[in-house]
Amino acid sequence: MTQNKPKDAGKAGNGPATAPVVSNFIRQIIDADLAAGQYAGRTWAGKPGPAAVQLAGAADPARIRTRFPPEPNGYLHYGHAKSICLNFGLARDYGGACHLRFDDTNPEKEEQEYVDSIVDAVRWLGFGWEAFGDRNLYYASDYFDWMYAFAEGLIRGGHAYVDSQSAEEMRANRGTLTRPGVDSPYRNRTVEENLDLFRRMRDGAFPDGAHVLRARIDMASPNINMRDPAIYRIRHATHHNTGDKWCVYPMYTFAHPIEDALENITHSICTLEFEDQRPFYDWLLERLADAGLLARPLPQQIEFARLNLTYVVLSKRKLIQLVDEGHVAGWDDPRLPTLVGARRRGYTPEGFRLFAERIGVSKADSWIDYSVLEDCMREDLNERAERRVAVLDPLKLVITNYPEGRSETCLAPNHPQKPELGKREVPFGRELWIEREDFVEAPPKGYFRLFPGNSVRLRYGFVVKCTGCEKDAQGKVTAVLCEYFPDSKSGTAGADNYKVKGNIHWVSAAQALETEVRLYDRLFAHPFPGARREGDPEGLERNFLDDINPASLTTITAMLEPALALAEPESCFQFERHGYFVADRRDSRPGAPVFNRAVTLKDSWGKAAK
Ligand code: ATP
Ligand code: MG
Repeated sequence: MTQNKPKDAGKAGNGPATAPVVSNFIRQIIDADLAAGQYAGRTWAGKPGPAAVQLAGAADPARIRTRFPPEPNGYLHYGHAKSICLNFGLARDYGGACHLRFDDTNPEKEEQEYVDSIVDAVRWLGFGWEAFGDRNLYYASDYFDWMYAFAEGLIRGGHAYVDSQSAEEMRANRGTLTRPGVDSPYRNRTVEENLDLFRRMRDGAFPDGAHVLRARIDMASPNINMRDPAIYRIRHATHHNTGDKWCVYPMYTFAHPIEDALENITHSICTLEFEDQRPFYDWLLERLADAGLLARPLPQQIEFARLNLTYVVLSKRKLIQLVDEGHVAGWDDPRLPTLVGARRRGYTPEGFRLFAERIGVSKADSWIDYSVLEDCMREDLNERAERRVAVLDPLKLVITNYPEGRSETCLAPNHPQKPELGKREVPFGRELWIEREDFVEAPPKGYFRLFPGNSVRLRYGFVVKCTGCEKDAQGKVTAVLCEYFPDSKSGTAGADNYKVKGNIHWVSAAQALETEVRLYDRLFAHPFPGARREGDPEGLERNFLDDINPASLTTITAMLEPALALAEPESCFQFERHGYFVADRRDSRPGAPVFNRAVTLKDSWGKAAK
């Protein structure tokens, strides 16, 4: 348990905690840093900036600063939810601030549509970037002037040079894991020559690829990332924010540490693949702080294992392929592991936050089974979803001794564990819809539902005894016939006199709401889509598309209790005995909702896969 929960933590506007906080290696680092006063005495100007700006500010009210730095080149997926919950959750729990930063240093690629969807997704998950009076939403491209100035600063300090080798020469001279690199013939250019060339690069004197600016570190370093990495390149491209102002752009490995430092970030949390970049992260920020360009203490990079989840793909490239090739109906297709898809599916922000807490963070790569996510959604939906009745595979039930034209109401609880949510009236009449599977002519052993001669309770209604059925010419059952016991109504004195083993749900046919229901299942039928399987030839890459589950969507017409006509888009319900369903936020019309299945009541995947 963390001890670092100051009274004003809520002020950071980072949403409510969902579960007791369990410590992890990142929290231990933060605890130790705070205990040592590592980040005490920092000043903050209320906005990003270099040393000159920050040092003029007041004491930073945020005890820590984290950030979530998406590149606005796609929709966020479940993996991003882990990172969002982690970064915003830490800021919330430690009385800090978490910045939402659009990492848009790469020209051409970014689009406003993605920016908007990312803002929506972070808000939807329950987090905000307002803290201590600041609105910490930033664009890395707003820092280009500083980045450029810092690059000149490195040149002046002898820490960077313009290299004019071709891309192939540079690659060949980089060396390998076992062979050191070779110094570029341009490595010893004078400061004046480097400054002149770099400025002409900036001024558009050269075509793409003619020169690059490289850090001057060590071509023999065992860490290849330290062998004079490129930090600026020429790219004649229009940027969505800065237009044609620049034709040189910083490399990600140069830009990212600077973005963190300009924003006073204390703990820069990223995924494990950046571990080898950490020495350069530190090298760069140290040089810039030594030159007086950045304020100390500097941010530290901490790596954690990314989320790998079975039965989905979490790579932007593959998600784009699924959308572009029409395997799903768009970015918000409920089967896609995007956050817009999850939202339409009926997954909840609280469910994601619970999931993030439950899987925790670690340094070791691992796979999380999809059922863990489903369980979190079930747990949350069980709490919040009112109960309703829906017949998904309707078969008519006729109560032959119930007077024609008569109807009455039964009372059904809205939530069995929450009596305070009250009861609602459901109409009852002579003709009802029941599930086709709740009737058989010849019952197998242990079958307690309807069959000729057997009695069941119509949940919240009467006990009925089956007397037979009607069939069409093909022998398919078209109606089940029964007689009811007028003194058996649930909630009345006589109800207890009837002992029956079966209890089935129903909807009154006269008032039923006939509507479209989509039964979503896992998008992939295999836990590791595209992975080689036993028996596959060695070296064969299976196409992940071949692992798509052909039954990932079944669209049906169901019979629902009439109260559901009023369901607001995005409201969630448990359809008794079936699972959790949400009124689709896109296709529902007033009075005519369409429902999506979020998750079944129990984990039925093993059975369904057979
Ligand atoms: P992709 O590799 O699919 O393009 P990305 O990591 O490049 O995704 P970004 O927009 O750069 O996407 O990611 C923003 C943040 O989300 C980064 O800090 C990244 O580490 C984090 N992130 C991305 N994928 C995952 C994941 N599967 N698990 C945890 N964090 C993730
Ligand atoms: Mg990325």
